[in-house]
Amino acid sequence: RPRQELDAVDTVCPYCGVGCALTYYVDRSRGAIAFAEGRDQPGSKSRLCVKGRYGWDYAASPQRLTMPLIRKESSYPKGPLSADVRGDAYNDRGRAGAGGDRSAKLSRNGKDRKRKPGGLVDYDEVLPHFREATWEEALDLVARRLKEIHAELGPGAIAGFGSAKCSNEEAYLFQKLIRAGFGTNNVDHCTRLCHASSVAALFEGVGSGAVSTTYGDVANAEVVIITGSNPTANHPVASSFFKQARRRGTKIVYVDPRASTVAEHADYYCQVKPGTDVAFYNAVMHEVIRLGLVDMDFVRERVSGFEELVRTVADYPPERSAQITGVDAGLIREVARVWGEAKAGVIYWGMGISQHTTGTDNARCLIALCSITGNVGRPGTGLHPLRGQNNVQGASDAGLIPMFYPDYQGVDREGTRRRFEQAWGVELDPERGLTVTEIIGSVLKPGGVRGMYMLGENPFLSDPNINKVRKALSQLDFLVVQDIFLTETAEFADVILPASSYLEKDGSYTNTDRRVQLGRKVMDPPGQARVDWEIIQDLARRIGLDWSYASSSEVFDEMVALMPSYANLRHDNLGRTGKLYPNADPEHSDGTVVLFDERFNTDDGLAHLVPAQWLPAKELPDAEYPLVLNTGRLLEHWHTGSMTRRSFALDTISPVAEVYMHPKDAADRGLAHGQTARVRSRRGAIELQVRVSHREQLGNCFIPFHFREAAANLLTIDEIDPYGKIPEFKFCAIQVEAL
Ligand code: SF4
Repeated sequence: RPRQELDAVDTVCPYCGVGCALTYYVDRSRGAIAFAEGRDQPGSKSRLCVKGRYGWDYAASPQRLTMPLIRKESSYPKGPLSADVRGDAYNDRGRAGAGGDRSAKLSRNGKDRKRKPGGLVDYDEVLPHFREATWEEALDLVARRLKEIHAELGPGAIAGFGSAKCSNEEAYLFQKLIRAGFGTNNVDHCTRLCHASSVAALFEGVGSGAVSTTYGDVANAEVVIITGSNPTANHPVASSFFKQARRRGTKIVYVDPRASTVAEHADYYCQVKPGTDVAFYNAVMHEVIRLGLVDMDFVRERVSGFEELVRTVADYPPERSAQITGVDAGLIREVARVWGEAKAGVIYWGMGISQHTTGTDNARCLIALCSITGNVGRPGTGLHPLRGQNNVQGASDAGLIPMFYPDYQGVDREGTRRRFEQAWGVELDPERGLTVTEIIGSVLKPGGVRGMYMLGENPFLSDPNINKVRKALSQLDFLVVQDIFLTETAEFADVILPASSYLEKDGSYTNTDRRVQLGRKVMDPPGQARVDWEIIQDLARRIGLDWSYASSSEVFDEMVALMPSYANLRHDNLGRTGKLYPNADPEHSDGTVVLFDERFNTDDGLAHLVPAQWLPAKELPDAEYPLVLNTGRLLEHWHTGSMTRRSFALDTISPVAEVYMHPKDAADRGLAHGQTARVRSRRGAIELQVRVSHREQLGNCFIPFHFREAAANLLTIDEIDPYGKIPEFKFCAIQVEAL
């Protein structure tokens, strides 16, 4: 149909933290989206990557959940019910299978459909273990069971995992339900697996977990450091801003163990060994100090902890760091000089920094490097952790974390707690709650968590050491999963609630830049699936909370009233392009690009430097497991693949799980490109295809974690960073062998 006959609806891409603005053109006569187009917005300038342009068809998948489901009494024990992940399939003897059963049929609501290559939950196998239910019956059961567990074992026996896929309003209501309804702060979401360590370091160092400047501000920078990140795959549109800036003269320093395509655009490429970031950045600071390139005026007026930092980095001359990091001492010196002499520089970092047991220390070094060179608080300077999911910034802002109410207001501060008690009309728990990573461990301990509400999360594939996750989920007394598909985690559920995709509701989303944008409803949810905030509200009422929100904008207004950072924002003043927060006048201003121009958000207004010593990773290679595994994402897929592997275009481009290996590592094992190999760690084994790649370092392998049939997190270690509680997804010891 011609464009003018299509209905244009503005919303936001559901994938990465760039949060590109897009418009769907909807053919109402077919009830379907015809195509998507990028919309002009300061942060995306009408650009979209392949996921934004083509990756929306999953919402119309015939596999959408359309009815509440209740596990049949006879269907125990709980656990993965599909053949390829059942029983001992995931152990060091079994086959997880490369590609799984490629011809199995999927069924939903009587419709059969050939399964595309690749592993998805087999509905035919799993659905017989559940029966359809009405919403009344399902919600009554959820409320009754969670209340019983709460009454019998206390608030600490309840926990909730929210999701960064949800809107701000849903995140706000979900944490409010767990806190106000069950009296516990055991509520968290996937930021714990993403940038929790960055947030811990930023909050400690500058008093705010958000970015201090936007990625578009790269245009004002003389030099940028991009580190622990592959933005071409993970933040493609932001990456286009970096490359554009490079063409206009901004120097790029790229620091990463993998030689991604960014390395080809960089002026300086430092291929650090995995897990050596502290040693690298301490050496850079050592040189900055030695060369007299510290901005002493800035340090005197705006920084605390400089003397201790100087003492610590004195032990990291470039020659010593070169031995640890593998980066030539001369290159470290050159990077220090280029950074120290630049008038304006920004550091952008990704999960190669955060997803380590030293993730908080890694981020502390970046904060210190920016601070001692005065690179904060002016255009073209600052700190920017490139956030993962499209609403991970917003979900964190909205309080979906166990130590903070909305806007990072500490649950353990009495005055703050009293204010929230007054606002919500209930008594609240004065103790910090458990994180995602701690909740899984707690289920396995006496007196731990027994009942869980899981909203849009899929920890069976996303969390480390999934055999442990399997054990925990199967031992819960009660699990309710609210999602749009039958995920691997839903296979453990007692009740499954059919939810809405982002296309089926109004709500706001906050991107990595702090831009709050409105996502607008494009179509109705399928069958009896419902909008998530309405489900949460119905459950809240059943457990005795007096909620009566009539719209997501009403929820937003209540949330904003409790969040000084979001002051003045309303659904009706976000416009078509959204607004940055903080924003004193959203009717006339896009918001504040650069934070901390006069003071930091800490109590004393200073940046607090926290020096770090380099520590090796928790599980080092040895004779039996001589290679290092790094896990991450591909351009075409997203997290556990529940959405992108149901997108025809995306799964067609990238249908197969692969292990990326250095040519010599492959050759030493008699492995050729395309051959199937077994990868094993101390925790399990998977089989998948070999991709020989010059982008990998000798001794290091990369596996994306999107593929159920070759689940990378079967291999990963569940050690966590002591501050941010983030797992070590970027480092564990493995062996790869021919079959
Ligand atoms: Fe979506 Fe990120 Fe791609 Fe933009 S860059 S279209 S937000 S996945």
